Amino acid sequence: MTQYDAIVIGTGQAGPPLATRLAKAGMKVAIIERKLFGGTCVNTGCIPTKTLVASARAAAVARRAREYGVVVDGSIQIDMKAVKARKDKISGASRTGLEKSLKSMQNCAVYEGQAQFESPREIKINGELIGAPRIFINVGARAIVPDMPGLDRVPYLTNSSMMDVDFVPEHLVIVGGSYVGLEFAQMYRRFGSEVTIIEKGPRLIAREDEDVSGAIAEIVEREGIHLRLNAECIRFEQGGNGPVAGVNCTVGPPDVRGTHVLLAVGRRPNTDDLGLEKTGIAADERGYIAVNDRLETNVPGIWALGDCNGRGGFTHTSYNDFEIVADNLLDGGSRRVSDRITTYALFIDPPLGRAGLTAAEAIRAGKRVLAGKRPMTRVGRAIEKGETQGFMKVLVDADTKQILGAAILGTGGDEAIHCILDVMYSKAPYTLLKQAMHIHPTVSELIPTVLGELEPVADSESSQAALPE
Ligand SMILES: Cc1cc2nc3c(=O)[nH]c(=O)nc-3n(C[C@H](O)[C@H](O)[C@H](O)COP(=O)(O)OP(=O)(O)OC[C@H]3O[C@@H](n4cnc5c(N)ncnc54)[C@H](O)[C@@H]3O)c2cc1C
Repeated sequence: MTQYDAIVIGTGQAGPPLATRLAKAGMKVAIIERKLFGGTCVNTGCIPTKTLVASARAAAVARRAREYGVVVDGSIQIDMKAVKARKDKISGASRTGLEKSLKSMQNCAVYEGQAQFESPREIKINGELIGAPRIFINVGARAIVPDMPGLDRVPYLTNSSMMDVDFVPEHLVIVGGSYVGLEFAQMYRRFGSEVTIIEKGPRLIAREDEDVSGAIAEIVEREGIHLRLNAECIRFEQGGNGPVAGVNCTVGPPDVRGTHVLLAVGRRPNTDDLGLEKTGIAADERGYIAVNDRLETNVPGIWALGDCNGRGGFTHTSYNDFEIVADNLLDGGSRRVSDRITTYALFIDPPLGRAGLTAAEAIRAGKRVLAGKRPMTRVGRAIEKGETQGFMKVLVDADTKQILGAAILGTGGDEAIHCILDVMYSKAPYTLLKQAMHIHPTVSELIPTVLGELEPVADSESSQAALPE
């Protein structure tokens, strides 16, 4: 049995930088990948989808060119093979760059195949046993295929198989109205597909405040995307031209006839075929590995990082897991997962940037909430760009004066949110940001203004009612 100082399972967002740090610290390291180097973000998640979002935006801007006084001669055509080729090139460069750097690294052995625990200190890979006193699990997650009647009788796509699509589906039916579903919905609508989102809940992206969900629904409906909300008992059958989805909605016809179905109803951790039962590692009922604040499992010498520990679900949370583990192990740090502030974006156009609590969460936590809100129709930069959909909203704790959270749904919202996030990390009172001078004309320049117009939020689950528009 080959003995290492550390074994890393998975080459997602935490594994490779951790293997690099450990190898540079002089440890003999093994890293194992069963499929594509770089994992979800690089191959089937962030990078390819944001590349496709960029192509879709180019199409949308070209269609609006006249509004800006720009004449495009001829009709706007989508060359999906070229769209896919651009995506493959960008994602492929990232994958091969990572593979090369791992394979050329000193002190690091790369194994390709399925890793499985044989014991808490031993991993079986391609019939070989390797061992280490430290094992880091970074196995990620995959799309859930829900147990819906008839789904086994119709072809369906997931975020992974969508990466092979090099044509414009005539009618894409997307099951799931959250982050992944919404990004694919808008991009394929912009590529020319008819798109229907089927969502079993009463609103899109239900973890957000109602005003955010409502504004996102307006944005996508304005582009001609059909929404079927409250779709309980979703079922499928094969129709003459393609799959038919049955939806028991309160409004609209009972069937949606599409040509292609995309499942976007969540992710499940890749922990079911890892041999966890041979280690005593605790996992919850959905398979997420239980970790403490330092990302240690209940078995000494084994850590779990990234999507498989259920503490994040984003590339930046997985990378932050790496930073926490590396600092604590190698630099004598005492970093904790609970010190980080929730933040993420939804990359529709315009994007949603989010930080901290929603208003509903803050109220549920018993906070006295002040909020400032401004529609993008009153943001100079948005008007100049002709992109006035959405709004910005900042929440403040009336007692501590600290910022509790924010949502910036609008042009540049994915970038502007960071000025709020960084003030939250500094734990400074909101008045610091209220008095800051920002660059004109930007979206961020209105954040101090919004903070100067705070009003109490009513003690209700909805943040919408009490806020001025
Ligand atoms: C469509 C889509 C869009 C997304 N967009 C964004 C975004 O814009 N921004 C963002 O922050 N996040 C986004 N995400 C989420 C993000 O991609 C993930 O949170 C991130 O990739 C998680 O990384 P990870 O390190 O946990 O694991 P992963 O990147 O999933 O990597 C895990 C790796 O482990 C390998 N593996 C699994 N089991 C084994 C085994 N037993 N043996 C060997 N190897 C194994 C897998 O093959 C994989 O390569 C998106 C996700 C999807 C699906």
